[in-house]
Amino acid sequence: MTIARRPLLVGLVASAVSACNMGAPRPVANPGFEAWRRSFRPRAAAAGITPATLDRALGRAGYLPQVIEKDRNQTEFTRSLEDYLAIAASDDRVATGRAMLARHARRFSGIEARYGVAAPVVAAIWGLESRYGARRGDIPVVSALATLAYDGRRGRFFEGQLIAALKILDRGDITPARMTGSWAGAMGHTQFIPTSYLAYAVDFDGDGRRDIWSDDPTDALASTAAYLQRSGWQPGQPWGMEVRLPDTLDLARTGRKRRQDAADWSALGVTRPDGRPLPRAGATAILAPAGRQGPAFALFSNFEVILRYNNAVNYGIGIGHLSDRLAGGPPLSKAFPPDAAGMTLDDRKALQRRLTAAGYDTEGADGVIGPKTEEAIRRYQARNGLTVTGRPSRALLTRLGRT
Ligand code: CA
Repeated sequence: MTIARRPLLVGLVASAVSACNMGAPRPVANPGFEAWRRSFRPRAAAAGITPATLDRALGRAGYLPQVIEKDRNQTEFTRSLEDYLAIAASDDRVATGRAMLARHARRFSGIEARYGVAAPVVAAIWGLESRYGARRGDIPVVSALATLAYDGRRGRFFEGQLIAALKILDRGDITPARMTGSWAGAMGHTQFIPTSYLAYAVDFDGDGRRDIWSDDPTDALASTAAYLQRSGWQPGQPWGMEVRLPDTLDLARTGRKRRQDAADWSALGVTRPDGRPLPRAGATAILAPAGRQGPAFALFSNFEVILRYNNAVNYGIGIGHLSDRLAGGPPLSKAFPPDAAGMTLDDRKALQRRLTAAGYDTEGADGVIGPKTEEAIRRYQARNGLTVTGRPSRALLTRLGRT
């Protein structure tokens, strides 16, 4: 999904963090949309969509203003890797993923045998994309894509996705009513956009339909493994791993594109966290996202394959690390350095716990400062006659510690 998927990236990262269902959106009458629908129909027919599908799917699609609202309100900020990993590999997501691997053990081993992609990697994608199927999205995809195609901000991209969605309906893999997904048209357990579905989805359970929407995740998980396999996944190879850098290593040598043989990194003194040598995994990049004070990673060729699924480095490390945790591996050995406010992850968790105990509920203490924690801080500051910033600080942590 390299290029095709990129426009959805922010939405996917957000959905991994807080996949929010909008509730059943209501179509709204819109003369401009009707005119667009009339002009689009011959283009869809020229692309090979049958009149029957155009009638039952496009003909019944509606304009969804909420979808436009979502598209306009995409925040462009990116979370730090530390925050991203705290969410992606939270205790809850690790525990649920391990339970899912056990529950679906036979499915996963069949998929692994067929496509050569380790079960924990497929499970990690499932966990990040839809919380293991719990947040698959309930927006009617044809209406959402038609709305976005009409709206025009990225009209060409979404019109291509809409035609792909209509092709899927034409083939009978799913009915229009069951074809639901995210507001941007990402569908099923692992959030395939329609063009990716056409290219990679498989009917693994052999019932004649490639069903990534059903409660049964078999086809969706196999389709994800098929996507990775066809993107060049190397069976038996790790995605990467946490490493220890020697103080002497010039960080200018690091970076995702600066690959050299693992043996050359070993010669420079790079090791696994416990001091053992790196595996012979071929061309290897070293990344130190938080500098010398934070955790560093070796990235192998399979890391680049994960980025073909979703082109964001934090996503790739999130999938890789979550997959290691699902396989029974430990948390990162090295902590991230304190943030701009001088606070560590543990400080921020303590702040959230103390706010909650004082009656300012942060709804959990994951150490990630989001809107709920900022609101709790604002209410605490207002109530206590402090300057209202909504931002965490060491002074606030200390003050709450005394209450
Ligand atoms: Ca099937």
